[in-house]
Amino acid sequence: MKKRREFETEAVRTQLGRSQYLEHSSPMYLTSSFVFEDAEDMRASFAEEKDRNIYSRYSNPNSSEFIDKVCKMEGAEDGFAFASGMAAVFSTFAALLEHGDHILSARSIFGSTHTLFTQFFPKWNIGTSYFKLDELDEIENLITPNTKLIYAESPTNPGVDILDLEALGAIAKKHNLIFIIDNCFASPYLQQPIAFGADLVIHSGTKLMDGQGRVLAGITVGNGELIDKIYRFSRITGPSLSPFNAWVLSKSLETLGVRVDRHCENALKVAEFLEQHPRIDWVKYPFLPSHPQYELAKKQMKAGGCVVAFEVKGGLGAGQRFFDSVKMMSLSANLGDSRSIVTHPASTTHSKLSSEERALVGISDGMIRVSVGLEHVNDIIADIAQALE
Ligand SMILES: *Cc1c(COP(=O)(O)O)cnc(C)c1O
Repeated sequence: MKKRREFETEAVRTQLGRSQYLEHSSPMYLTSSFVFEDAEDMRASFAEEKDRNIYSRYSNPNSSEFIDKVCKMEGAEDGFAFASGMAAVFSTFAALLEHGDHILSARSIFGSTHTLFTQFFPKWNIGTSYFKLDELDEIENLITPNTKLIYAESPTNPGVDILDLEALGAIAKKHNLIFIIDNCFASPYLQQPIAFGADLVIHSGTKLMDGQGRVLAGITVGNGELIDKIYRFSRITGPSLSPFNAWVLSKSLETLGVRVDRHCENALKVAEFLEQHPRIDWVKYPFLPSHPQYELAKKQMKAGGCVVAFEVKGGLGAGQRFFDSVKMMSLSANLGDSRSIVTHPASTTHSKLSSEERALVGISDGMIRVSVGLEHVNDIIADIAQALE
């Protein structure tokens, strides 16, 4: 068998075939549709007797390059690219679930995904049960005859908890459930869930994949048969990624490894700084030995990611003073950007959850989430230090 090329090589060298102009870097195909040679070509194309582009809601060369690259990075058979991470999440579930199906989800998930499960899926009689990461032995008790899939994120947002992907994968396999991981916080560079038994991997391309805060994007990759169902649903419902954004994303992925290495290096230093600071109540980062799942994080991930969670002594009031004192870092709702960003999950990303729901997933009112960027780490730490003073 041909040896797979290394991750970084695929990131740079996975490219469309060259056009007549012999360009070095892939061109943009900003076209909504593609032309047919004649009546027979038109018929055969629509009958799917040919593997070709017809209309950019179905496929486009730039989306295909992006998908191909992410599939190689994740070790996936196939994929589909979406206009946002939430379009990927919604379309994946909507394509695979029937009226009356049941989802088994980790309790600690992205805020909008949680809202989708609690406020919208009940319209189609799709129910969700939640498990906590320290209750993996309880999961099997939550499985019902209607349970169709297991869903989780690791590291979680915003608490950077780590779930045991291999254990979850084994449970899914035993009960013949589809196992889906939102791998956005790790990026394909740090963690490849398919190797731990995931059937599908979802990403918000908006975060580390683009990494420069320019575009919204999403992608689902994994098992070819499941992706085919997602493709058939999505080419009709139209959440497809634009060719322009696909081009941006594919360029961004060329530098994913070097960027994420630096994000992680900076984040670990920030976490170490916070850990010894007298004004800090607690700090969590997957690659700090004090993290409760440190060993598991080391097993599953290449490094700890860009997000550090902490709380300033004095709770919410002290946290608010911290936000008002930050000078360089941005107060924004994104993460994985080259610019460091501080967020207050309780009043932003997870504000739609009740405070009891937040407490259950470990989001205290004073919790601060830092997405550590690519500025020099001395300047990031200096900004945090002066804000803490
Ligand atoms: C941001 C995010 C999403 C949603 O992605 P969008 O591109 O904002 O739609 C989904 N899951 C996780 C873990 C995220 O961080």
